[in-house]
Amino acid sequence: MTNDIQVEFKQVELINNTKIVNGVYSLRFRRFFDFIPGQVISIKLTEDMPGRLYSIASSNRSEYIDILFRVRSEGLLSPQLANLSTGDKLYISTPMGNFTDQQTDSVWIAAGTGIAPYLSMIRSGVKGKKTLIFGASYRDHFYNDKELINNNIVDKYVRCCSREEHNDCFYGRVTAYIDQIKDLPNRKYYLCGNPEMVVEVRDKLIKRGIAFNDILAEIYF
Ligand SMILES: Cc1cc2nc3c(=O)[nH]c(=O)nc-3n(C[C@H](O)[C@H](O)[C@H](O)COP(=O)(O)OP(=O)(O)OC[C@H]3O[C@@H](n4cnc5c(N)ncnc54)[C@H](O)[C@@H]3O)c2cc1C
Repeated sequence: MTNDIQVEFKQVELINNTKIVNGVYSLRFRRFFDFIPGQVISIKLTEDMPGRLYSIASSNRSEYIDILFRVRSEGLLSPQLANLSTGDKLYISTPMGNFTDQQTDSVWIAAGTGIAPYLSMIRSGVKGKKTLIFGASYRDHFYNDKELINNNIVDKYVRCCSREEHNDCFYGRVTAYIDQIKDLPNRKYYLCGNPEMVVEVRDKLIKRGIAFNDILAEIYF
């Protein structure tokens, strides 16, 4: 999927590219812009190619920008990103987007690398108390566990592990977890990750009485 957005790009040097688990990487370069936690940037490798959008995962006070990305094996950019190493060049846009949560008590729902904007929010110290519901296939894909447990922002952290049973996880998808919550809190809901998860969860929330305007979605199409 291309993201035909007219934005300015700047060439930066990659500081590092770390494999987190199979198929998931974290890349870092020096920050050259201000941003609001939850925003995205566009990345490309040459001036001519279309950019792809990625959520910023780092703090807005850090001197670095960190991006968490999953390799789509048949994709144009992500397999190439996985092969980059320190010193390689990439083109980065200035930040954009309004998937931001500054003040409220809210419910954050993520699947896979969709955890990235919430990491940025936690690392930047956003206001309010958050419930975080995080879905992944395997236990080792909850790679930021320590940070997600030990912070002053997330007061309830639920891991939904769909392909493995573990004592500390709900066994099943995020959607199944939401189905078995008796009373959904009346808060703002943030959904981030693959289109199937976001659309299914949004439908469920609306059917259960959550106002459409209280649901914000960042879809990783
Ligand atoms: C707002 C936003 C934020 C995002 N943030 C993140 C993030 O933080 N982390 C992250 O990992 N991703 C994120 N994404 C997704 C990211 O932008 C890319 O879409 C993703 O990395 C895949 O890019 P790609 O160039 O590798 O794959 P693409 O070339 O875009 O291909 C994507 C998929 O489509 C399939 N495909 C491609 N061409 C065809 C074709 N002709 N026919 C059939 N199938 C085809 C490929 O098999 C591949 O699986 C975000 C997306 C959006 C919109």
